[in-house]
Amino acid sequence: MSDAAALPGQPRGGVVSGPATPRTVNVLAPNASPMTLDGTNTWIVAEPDSDLAVVIDPGPQDDAHLRAVVDTAERAGRRIALTLLTHGHPDHAEGAARFAELTRTKVRALDPVLRLGDEGLTAGDVITIGGLELRVVPTPGHTADSLSFHLPADRAVLTGDTVLGRGTTVVAHPDGRLGDYLDSLRRLRSLTVDDGVHTVLPGHGPVLEDAQGAVDFYLAHRAHRLAQVETAIEAGHRTPAELVAHVYADVDRSLWPAAELSVRAQLEYLSEHGLV
Ligand SMILES: [Zn+2]
Repeated sequence: MSDAAALPGQPRGGVVSGPATPRTVNVLAPNASPMTLDGTNTWIVAEPDSDLAVVIDPGPQDDAHLRAVVDTAERAGRRIALTLLTHGHPDHAEGAARFAELTRTKVRALDPVLRLGDEGLTAGDVITIGGLELRVVPTPGHTADSLSFHLPADRAVLTGDTVLGRGTTVVAHPDGRLGDYLDSLRRLRSLTVDDGVHTVLPGHGPVLEDAQGAVDFYLAHRAHRLAQVETAIEAGHRTPAELVAHVYADVDRSLWPAAELSVRAQLEYLSEHGLV
């Protein structure tokens, strides 16, 4: 389940591929699955008048996809100058080394293992390329190394798997932690309130134009699931498998292993807060 991303929910938009905001274009990777929704969104980000572009999440190891990303940038008269990763799950990062080879770019990520070149990424870093400005926002929780990228000029945030275009994300225990995830959602919410961000450009699924509504939905969903788990524990369900069967009874069984990661993250959170 190392590429765990999505759990189902109400659809909130259509599939997106192509231009999304003035500075972003999505090239959809051909790796659709129940866990990756329509596939991984590989984002090309550039200033409108610049010949330099940044790519966020090259995606899976798929040469045709990686070449399609390069071709899309080149058709717009742009050279890819830098590769960034939102996190290390293979559906986002597996193709990064090959992509770096094709584009002769460095790869920057929070996790040193994923980097190619001498530069990492840390909270508060500001990346500037060809007039483009991207601010690095730490959003751990889906994984420990999850980052989002704030694109102030488009009042947008690229969220990787922290917020998806539909459904909800998996807190991938033990690497992902629920307390961190809730803090990250609140951090994204403050971007919408304090910095006027209104567009979510997710790692999977369609673009969301109501960023605050999406984050509030995620916060409410987490509170709801946590309450369900607490109630199930009070009713005598104890093991993660029992809790999944009870709380995720409405979810397709093929997604139960992913749901169990989230349940384990919730149990850890409840125990850390002295609630079980
Ligand atoms: Zn992921």
